[in-house]
Amino acid sequence: MSLQNPVFIPGPTNIPEEIRKACDMPTLDHRSGAFAKLFAPAVAGVRRVLNMGQGEVIILPSTGTGGWEAAVSNTLSPGDTVLAARFGMFSHRWIDLCQRHGLNVEIIEAPWGEGAPLAAIEEALRADSAGKIKAVLATHNETATGVRSDIAGIRRALDAAGHDAMLFVDGVSSIGSMPFDMAGWGVDIAVAGSQKGFMLPAGLAILGVSPKAWAAMDHATLPRTFFDFRDMTKAYASGGYPYTPAVGLIAGLAKSIELLEEEGLDNVYARHARLAEATRRAVAAWGMRPCAARPELYSDTVTAVVVPEGCNGTELVQLAAEKYGMAFGVGLGEVAGKVFRIGHLGMLTDVMLLSGLAVAEMCMADLGWQVRLGSGVAAAQEYLRATPSATLSEAA
Ligand SMILES: *Cc1c(COP(=O)(O)O)cnc(C)c1O
Repeated sequence: MSLQNPVFIPGPTNIPEEIRKACDMPTLDHRSGAFAKLFAPAVAGVRRVLNMGQGEVIILPSTGTGGWEAAVSNTLSPGDTVLAARFGMFSHRWIDLCQRHGLNVEIIEAPWGEGAPLAAIEEALRADSAGKIKAVLATHNETATGVRSDIAGIRRALDAAGHDAMLFVDGVSSIGSMPFDMAGWGVDIAVAGSQKGFMLPAGLAILGVSPKAWAAMDHATLPRTFFDFRDMTKAYASGGYPYTPAVGLIAGLAKSIELLEEEGLDNVYARHARLAEATRRAVAAWGMRPCAARPELYSDTVTAVVVPEGCNGTELVQLAAEKYGMAFGVGLGEVAGKVFRIGHLGMLTDVMLLSGLAVAEMCMADLGWQVRLGSGVAAAQEYLRATPSATLSEAA
């Protein structure tokens, strides 16, 4: 029965019934026109969600991590330098992937809870007068700490330094849930996955690739076969795929975009901002704080809650799973045990969020933490009452 409960891990997210049904389909010949008909709206929809200008959408049978690998292996060569800030588990893993590919990663360390440090990035770019840095990697939403970085700011740093490195952005836990402006921010590769803002099961890496990144493929010598963008677009031209596509997931992706656009992307973003604020009101009422250091860094898709001294966030997550059948996210890496994470992205309503906050409180009480039952829920209720949902008022 606990499978009826919503999940509060920051991905995979809850799957709307309509998307589940769209994914569930009989076998279809992926070399037939029927597949092309299903694929085209998914590609066109991704283009709108990313707010791409020129460029190509690439949809691979993979996950977000495969999207990173595809971005790097299609555009760079062994020994190339990339610049990346490390401030959480996901920015760390992308750096690790680059190093294992034989890239030279110039790492800017920042405390966990901070975002991409713009001044340090600009400084590193200015110092690189020889133009060794081929790409700047940025994690838009660091899912381990609940921190949003300022991608427009990184673009300004590149421009201010007069540096022509490419800008690669991990938007796995932001795209489809928080505003993303590939064209406006001058992003060269944006990486998303199916199981977060797109509300699908895991299984697709979804990328936007700018013409500049595309051109870089001509000289890039890192080995690539399965992820080679050129094979993909060659096959696209005839409405197909270079190998067997995940047809059901692609049908689900088209449905996902239909749902997002039916609600209106701006309403989707507003809904996430509102539920995130309700969550933070609850956190404050518990006498706790988000791991994100300052309000402008607060993520709209996940809150990492710093637990009081002497408490262990992982114990709360375990108890929630065992006793109440509800999933929260554990702290990862440097903040293991020090935080637990409430994912509030994808298909989520006020009703669902309140159930999660209520269960978190019950677990705190069970564990003997000094929290009054109902305190966080009440704070969230007050905020939600006072701030009606744009989505529902428009539908009414
Ligand atoms: C989930 C996530 C990933 C990894 O994606 P997988 O689909 O698990 O490979 C990468 N980056 C961020 C920011 C994420 O939240």
